[in-house]
Order: sequence, then C-alpha cells, then structure tokens
Amino acid sequence: MPAPLPAVSLQIVKPSLIRNLLLPIPLLLLMLGFGYGGYLVSSGAGTRALIDSGERQLELHASGVEREISRYTYLPSLLELEGNVSRLLLEPTPYRRDLVNAYLEGLNRRAGSRAIYLLDTSGRVLATSNWQDADSYLGEDLSFRAYFQQAVTGQPGRFYGIGSTTGEPGYYLAHGLVHGGRIIGVAVVKVKMEALEERWEKAQLQAFVSDENGIIILSSNPQLRLKAVRPLSADDKERLARSLQYYWWALNEWQPSSRKALGDGVEEIGFRDKDAKGVEHAERLYLAQSRRLGDTPWHFTLLSPLRDVRREAMIHGVLAAVGFALLAFLLIAWNERRKVLATRLAAREALQQANDELERRIAERTGDLRASNQHLREQIRERRQAEETLRKAQDRLVQAGKLAVIGQMSTSIAHELNQPLAALRTLSGNTVRFLQRGALDTASSNLEAINEMVDRMGRITGSLRAFARRADDHGQARLDKAVDAALLVLQVRLKACPLTLHREFEDACLGIDQTRLEQILVNLIANAVDAMSAQDDRQLWLVGRIEGTFYQLSVRDNGPGIPPHARQHLFEPFFTTKPGEHGLGLGLTLSASLATAAGGSLVAAHPEGGGTAFELSLPMVRPEESSA
Ligand code: ADP
Repeated sequence: MPAPLPAVSLQIVKPSLIRNLLLPIPLLLLMLGFGYGGYLVSSGAGTRALIDSGERQLELHASGVEREISRYTYLPSLLELEGNVSRLLLEPTPYRRDLVNAYLEGLNRRAGSRAIYLLDTSGRVLATSNWQDADSYLGEDLSFRAYFQQAVTGQPGRFYGIGSTTGEPGYYLAHGLVHGGRIIGVAVVKVKMEALEERWEKAQLQAFVSDENGIIILSSNPQLRLKAVRPLSADDKERLARSLQYYWWALNEWQPSSRKALGDGVEEIGFRDKDAKGVEHAERLYLAQSRRLGDTPWHFTLLSPLRDVRREAMIHGVLAAVGFALLAFLLIAWNERRKVLATRLAAREALQQANDELERRIAERTGDLRASNQHLREQIRERRQAEETLRKAQDRLVQAGKLAVIGQMSTSIAHELNQPLAALRTLSGNTVRFLQRGALDTASSNLEAINEMVDRMGRITGSLRAFARRADDHGQARLDKAVDAALLVLQVRLKACPLTLHREFEDACLGIDQTRLEQILVNLIANAVDAMSAQDDRQLWLVGRIEGTFYQLSVRDNGPGIPPHARQHLFEPFFTTKPGEHGLGLGLTLSASLATAAGGSLVAAHPEGGGTAFELSLPMVRPEESSA
C-alpha cells in the first residue's frame, strides 16, 4: 500500500482564533500606556521649559518692580538736605510751611511720585505737595500709619496701603529726618505703581505682588487686587482693619481650586472661574513662581498658564499612541508576512517532496507496469497456444460428439423398438400356433394387435425423427388411451411380473403428442416394474390432479426407492443402475426432454413412506381443441 503524500500545512498562514481575540487587548493597553507616557514626558518637559522661561521672566519683572521701588527710596532722605524743611520742623511758621509746600510740590512733580509730605514727630502733616488740592493732607494726623511709626524710630518705613484721605492705593516710603543727632520729623513719599500693572498687562503677563500680610497689592488682573493669597485668621483681619492699611476694603481670600508644590517657590495652581450665572468653568492650571523682592517683605509672583503645555502634551500623547499603533501595525504586518513567506516556503518544500515522491513512485510503477506488461505478453502468447491446443481438442471432441450422438440415437432407437419387437415376436409366435390349431379368430385378433404394434413402431421411428429434428410438438393426447397403450406395450413384462395397479385419475386432454405421452408412460411404468421385480408385493399408483392450467400425473411405486447418491444423476444420459443390457440410462432423459418440449416437466420425488414417484406435469387443452 502506498504511503500517503506529505500534507502541506497551511495552519501557519491563518492566525489562530485565540490570538485574534486576545491580541488587541494588550495592544490597546500598550497603546494607552504609550499615549499616557508620551503625555507625561511631554508634560514634564513642557513644565520644565515653562519653569525655565518663567524664571527668566520672574527675574526680569521682579527686578523691574524692585527698580520701580528703589527709584524713590532715596527721595524722602533728600529732604534732610533742605534747610527750609528742618527749619519748619524745628520752628513751624506759616511762611516756612508755604516755602516747604512749594518745594515739595515742585519735587513731587519732577520725581513723578503721587505725593510728598512732611510729618512732625507727632505724626501730623506739616507740609505736603498737594497742599493746594481739596483732598490735601495738610493738618492730618497720620501717626497711626505703620510707616510713620517705623520711620520715627529711625527705621526705613515701607508700606503699601490705601490712603485714608483719598482712598487711593499707593506705596509709602518714609524716612526719619535727623537733625543734631535726633529725629525731628518724617518725610513720606507716596508712589503709585499702576504703571507696573499696565506694563504687565501690555506684556500679557499674569503676575502679582503680595505684601507681608499676604495681600495682593499689585496685580495684572484687577479682580485679584487686595485679595489674601493665604488664609487670614480672625485676629489678622481685625488687626488689619484697625490699622486702616487697606482702608475699609473687605479682604477676601483668594483660594485656588488646586495647589501642588513643584519645587522651591514653584507651584502648580488651578482656578475654577465662575461666570455671571455662577456656573463653574473647567479648571485653568497655572505655574506659579514667586520670589521675594529686595529691600521689601513683598513677594512677586508670576503665573504662567499651563494650558498650552498640557495641550501640547496631549497632542504628544496622542502622537505617541498613534505612533505606537503604527509601529505595532507594521510589526504585526511584517510578522504576518514573514509567517506567510515561511509557510509558502514550507509548502513549496513539501510540494517538492511530494513531487519527488510522486516521481519516484511513478518510476517504480512504470517499472512494475513494464514487467507486468511483459508478463501479460507472455501469458497472451501462452493463452494463444493453449487456445490453439483447445481448438484442436474441441474439433476432435466435436467429431467424437457427433459419433456419440449417432451412437446415442441408434441406442435410443434400439431401446424404443426393442420392447414392441419383443411383443411382436411373442404375438407372431402365438399367431402361428393359433393358426396351426385353427383358432382363426384369436389368430386374426393377434394379427390386428401385430398391425397396431407395427403402426406404433412406425410412429416411434417417426417421433424419434421428429425428436432428432428438435421441433416442438404441440399435439394432443388422451391420458386414458396413453395409459392403456403403455400397459399393452408392457403386457408381457407385466404378466411375468404382476402388480396391483391403482388408476386414480380422470381422463384428460393434454397438450402433447399421443405417442410421446405413451413413450413417457412406458418408460416410467417399465422403470417401476424393474424396481419392484425383486419383491412380491408390487403396487403402482397412477394419481392425477389438476394444477391450474397443468395436469399433474404421479407415477408412484412401492419399490426400494432411489439411493441418495443416484438421485442427482437420474436425468443424465446413460445413467443406469441396471446390470448388463437391461439398462441404457436413456429412458428418463428422453422422457424429461419430451415433457419439456411439450411445455411441461418431469421430476423425481422420494416419498417418506418409501418407493419412488415421478411427477409428470403437462399443459391441459380444452376438449373443443381436442375434437378439432
Ligand atoms: P434404464 O431404465 O435404462 O436404467 P432410465 O433412465 O430409465 O434408464 O433409468 C435410470 C435409472 O433410474 C435406473 O437405472 C434406475 O436405477 C433408476 N430408476 C428409474 N426408475 C426407478 C424406479 N421407479 N425405482 C427405482 N429406481 C428407478
């Protein structure tokens, strides 16, 4: 049996179901991870860059504020140099005050400050640059002001506050004026710093300055002004209210919605603004960087929006995720392609192997075929020879067969004619004796019988001729008559071997030639007589019955029966168990062939009670046809 060809496996080409189902999940997670990582890295880098640029901006603008403040720090101390000022402080007169008022007015104008004024040691305003204005400070008691209290003790007074007269915010610089080693008064310069705020606004900078109390005193955003950047306790609030530093302003706290320290002086803070209807907006994140301003307890804070950094980080995150997805897709595609190529290669190799195997087998088979072809040719030659030999043998056999048929025919004729001849011999012998005795009647009846016998013999030879011609005979016969004729033919033997005959049949008209029926009956009855010859009790039954359109005649004897080994050969020509010349073995063969020729049959039966029965079946014909 041939081995199966190697199968080409294609399972590698087709990705497995499990991988198909599970691969997208880790890929998606990785993609999200990459996206988030990209976002974090970009956000970190962006924040760092923002911190760096913020620091530069912080430095730039903080020093701008410091410069603005320091521009005026020298100004109050300048008044020490003015003789009229010290004179007025030592000995105030209206004239001296007018002089100093005019001087201060001029100085104020040139310096560009908001106001310059002079306080005596009790805190009362002696002279002021705005002496001509309706809201002039002249005569006001400002001893409660912290800057006065500091300056009168010899410390530099630095103070941001809202003017109690004008209600206008400003930066106050105070200096204790020394004369003869003691402080005789305090010079104050009020500076407005809106210019700084305007500058920040123009530069679109979000910045503010908070003072020592944590109150925003300068801001690019006016809404933040005078708001506390850190929580104020009730005590603080009361103290500040009493100091009137911020006049009567309600000091609300300005609290960011989120706050995260990123380093020294660097914070990330978020605000949630509300619109007019009170609906909260999305949180806005800022990077808050602050530093202390030199010579003051104040802090400058710069707010840089983180929105752009976050947006950029978001874009970078998305790009990282998309980049990863693209890379993963390319890798998967490359991997699939590699697998497909590997599979194709494997398939090609397997195909090549199969091809080689096939070629090898074809070569093997071709060799086998060639050998078997040769073998067949030899066999054909042998068969032809055998055929030739067979044909020759057949020819010889045909020749022998012809001879056998001739022999068989002559034997049949002899057999058929022997019995009437024996009867003739007996009759003729008797006739001669009757004639000698003068018994003419008996002699004449014997001669009639002889006549009939001769006719019968003529008919026998005629029927044998007809049998030899193998023509079907569809004559008609009367059963009764045929039985009588057969008994007549056999009368000599019946006399020698008497038996009891049981005629149990009705006369019938049968579709067979009369003589042929008689021949059959003679054969069957003679066989029965022969079989019973050795016994004393001899019974012969002729039983007839109608089976449809057939008439069945059973010829049964109570003889010894037929031994089993002989049963299958009964109808073979020349089969006989009778000794010497008694049997030719043709009786049953001829009878069966006559019955068959008439469209009937003859079979042997072996009754259980013993003996032998021959069942003769012949077609029946209607009496009209018979008479016709
Ligand atoms: P033959 O009578 O010449 O022997 P048949 O063909 O008539 O040839 O019969 C063949 C054989 O069949 C006989 O030799 C006999 O042995 C057997 N046979 C025929 N009829 C009977 C019978 N009624 N009882 C016993 N044997 C029979």
